[in-house]
Amino acid sequence: MFKSEYLNRVYAGVEARNPGEKEFLQAVYEVLESLEPVVEANPRLEQNGILERIVEPERQIFFRVPWVDDEGKVHVNRGFRVQFNSAIGPYKGGIRLHPSVNASVIKFLGFEQIFKNSLTSLPIGGGKGGSDFDPKGKSDMEVMRFCQSFMTELSKHIGADTDVPAGDIGTGAREIGYMYGQYKRLRNEFTGVLTGKGLTYGGSLARTEATGFGLCYFVEEMLNCMKNDSFKGKTVVISGSGNVAIYANQKATELGGKVVAMSDSNGYIVDKNGINLDVVKQIKEVERGRIKEYVNRVSGAEYHEGCSGIWTVKCDIALPCATQNEINEDSAKALIANGVMAVGEGANMPSTPEAVAAFQSAGVLFAPAKAANAGGVATSALEMSQNSMRYSWTFEEVDAKLKGIMVNIFHNAYNAAEKYGKKDNLVAGANIAGFEKVAEAMLAQGVAY
Ligand code: NDP
Repeated sequence: MFKSEYLNRVYAGVEARNPGEKEFLQAVYEVLESLEPVVEANPRLEQNGILERIVEPERQIFFRVPWVDDEGKVHVNRGFRVQFNSAIGPYKGGIRLHPSVNASVIKFLGFEQIFKNSLTSLPIGGGKGGSDFDPKGKSDMEVMRFCQSFMTELSKHIGADTDVPAGDIGTGAREIGYMYGQYKRLRNEFTGVLTGKGLTYGGSLARTEATGFGLCYFVEEMLNCMKNDSFKGKTVVISGSGNVAIYANQKATELGGKVVAMSDSNGYIVDKNGINLDVVKQIKEVERGRIKEYVNRVSGAEYHEGCSGIWTVKCDIALPCATQNEINEDSAKALIANGVMAVGEGANMPSTPEAVAAFQSAGVLFAPAKAANAGGVATSALEMSQNSMRYSWTFEEVDAKLKGIMVNIFHNAYNAAEKYGKKDNLVAGANIAGFEKVAEAMLAQGVAY
């Protein structure tokens, strides 16, 4: 438990109100733990109930999503939108489509999003949404009917100045397109209500690449400042083979690293010569196939069933880019035993608390998701700006802004950790730096929410 009586009281309240929501409780605990010195130094936080308010979503919307499959059978999924905090801007956060989605998962993601969005230095609040619908194995028409039904309800709660959703696991360009089409049909307005849109209808150049590229810009800066080192000549392992993983691979390679392993939810591939990214893109982006297909196309590569084995592959830099809690303590120890020097979280909360503790006590540089994967939402905010201006920047302009933002996030997190006596602890630094701005805005606005 915490040393602060205030923090213990706040956390007990969260546990009582959200029983059994393990992902949400894990995310809240981690943030409160980091905020201990901030709470001690600022009695105004307790006087104004800032923490009690920040752990409770401003609004939660759960809704029925009925849709009809190609055989005419009716299915019902559950839709979620959690509008967590609007102190510094309209709610912003992705839509996750995956069978594992439930209230706890969406709340943990929405809560983390508050601090991540604040760290970008752009005016965006925190939110998240999704459904337990699984797009895998569905036809395009089935996905379209689901997305239209989902948006029919969601459209009542979002808007370009209210709440601007984006993609996440299972929600890529295809799903965003169907949702945007339905929003426009219902509301008769062409506004930037979603980000991650196609380039022909308001999307931003470099948004597709942004989370993976941003992750590598962050890790490069961390290596540079904390170890006087870089990606150059390093062996890299990346879990996942979706949007974040693919573009992390591209940028890590451009920066001089060699990516030797990638995965999907069934297993992982190892290619000692360096993964051929064009083959992975063809299998995952074009054919929507399984990663094991890689070994049929590239000689010398291996495939192994199961996800966690990827962390036994020897590497200097590990970039988990699949899903939450994918690195447990055993996997962390395997990485450490193999000499890993840096871990950068591309996925949200991919390391369990025990894994994070193991990395930190072994002196491994650790870049937490909130800071390291903020490039996606930052570029989404740049997409919002371009939509408002009815203008578009070049790829190079957006990429340069993204790089500047990631370097800035690193230094803000690094400096905040140092200021509160937690030097080199970027988990604490990111939580503190993200929190301070939101708390200041909440204090200024009175007890509004
Ligand atoms: P995608 O759906 O494009 O890819 C997800 C990848 O992770 C796939 O390879 C998928 O395998 C694998 N995966 C999904 N669930 C599991 C699981 N339970 N176990 C093992 N592997 C799994 O999603 P994204 O790349 O967009 O997102 C990946 C992570 O990054 C998520 O945590 C997301 O929240 C986070 N993130 C994404 C951002 C973005 O801009 N897209 C921004 C910030 C964070 P399979 O192909 O078998 O499904």
